[in-house]
Amino acid sequence: MPVLGRDVTVPLVTGGEVTYAALDYAASAPALQRVWDDVAAYAPYYGSVHRGAGYLSQLSTDLFENARRTVEEFLDCRDGDQVVFTRSTTDSLNLLAAALPADCQVFVFETEHHASLLPWRDARVTYLNAPRTPGEAVATLERALAERDPHGPALVCVTGASNVTGELWPVRELAAAAHTHGARIVLDAAQLAPHHPVSVRELDVDWVAFSGHKLYAPFGSGVLAGRADWLTEAEPYLAGGGASRKVSRRVDGGVDVEWHESAARHEAGSPNVIGAYSIASACKALTEAGFDTLVAREQQLIDTVRAGLAEVPEVRVLSLFGDDAPRVGVISFVVEGWNSSHFAAALSAEYGIGVRDGLFCAHPLVRTLLGSDPQTQGECGAPEAAPGEKSLNAIRVSFGAGT
Ligand code: PLP
Repeated sequence: MPVLGRDVTVPLVTGGEVTYAALDYAASAPALQRVWDDVAAYAPYYGSVHRGAGYLSQLSTDLFENARRTVEEFLDCRDGDQVVFTRSTTDSLNLLAAALPADCQVFVFETEHHASLLPWRDARVTYLNAPRTPGEAVATLERALAERDPHGPALVCVTGASNVTGELWPVRELAAAAHTHGARIVLDAAQLAPHHPVSVRELDVDWVAFSGHKLYAPFGSGVLAGRADWLTEAEPYLAGGGASRKVSRRVDGGVDVEWHESAARHEAGSPNVIGAYSIASACKALTEAGFDTLVAREQQLIDTVRAGLAEVPEVRVLSLFGDDAPRVGVISFVVEGWNSSHFAAALSAEYGIGVRDGLFCAHPLVRTLLGSDPQTQGECGAPEAAPGEKSLNAIRVSFGAGT
């Protein structure tokens, strides 16, 4: 019986074998069998998208465009919103960063995953200090926006659920604050979308980004969905075929290009049809399973894991908003007297439990939570503190109810 995830048997260094518990869904969740089956069923119809007159090309084009419709429905997009297929959340946020209007100010909490923290560095960025309650997050953003130049464009980037603490952020309230001050908001839903329904309309966010491989689809595909205007006004993210509607030689010897105004503008090159198709398949599977059921089942898992950890006095669970904060199945902790990397390695080798250790691509947040020097200490993969010293990184266990 698998604890969670796929039924994989692994040998233990201490002898014997065990059914492996892969508890690293926040990094990549195991793709659903239903998704693999859908991909296999598509294989005979494999053809080039948007390019061929042949039957298989037309079928592939339909599957690709239908995948876009499925994602649109999954995210409850508004009329006129665009769904752009990308490689990942990181890619989606970099795409948006490349599409910012001139003089855009960007506001981002220092607690973000690096994918949401770093793409804006060519813009005027205000990094907001880590809040200790959801209310403080809203108040901090309100204050920062009130002080901004009210005439220029502005963007807030915020995560829906932390990849370190699993805590939910007050997205609706942050979106309301952004809009009150004439700013727009992009939601990093990499950790939220696999666990909770995400409605662009209800949350009133301008864009949403997420990754297929965290949503029970295979690696290599992601989504940026939301308002078309900034995307249509921007230069294509990649220049090439598919993004261009018309290309002509000029009399002076140069080349003129008319770019598409649809999502294709930012999807130059042959698209990742299987990636888009897999995301759509996973979206359908989660919708059919029903988020009410998934959330209730996941809450039981969260309660069980937290109760188990609470029984070990040496364990300290990391939290920004406190024990009672609503959260998804992502729990980070340190074990007093233990090197986190050794602890994680032992869980895998001796118990067949796969977790992650480190700073989880959210260095400023993890350092804040560990109480270590916010500027210098701890790096991904860096050696841990000596026994008895303050931990410089943490252990993360993450799971979901999708499989
Ligand atoms: N945002 C959050 C909150 C994440 O947890 C991650 C990945 O862990 C990302 C963004 C980046 O996702 P990807 O690596 O798929 O681009």
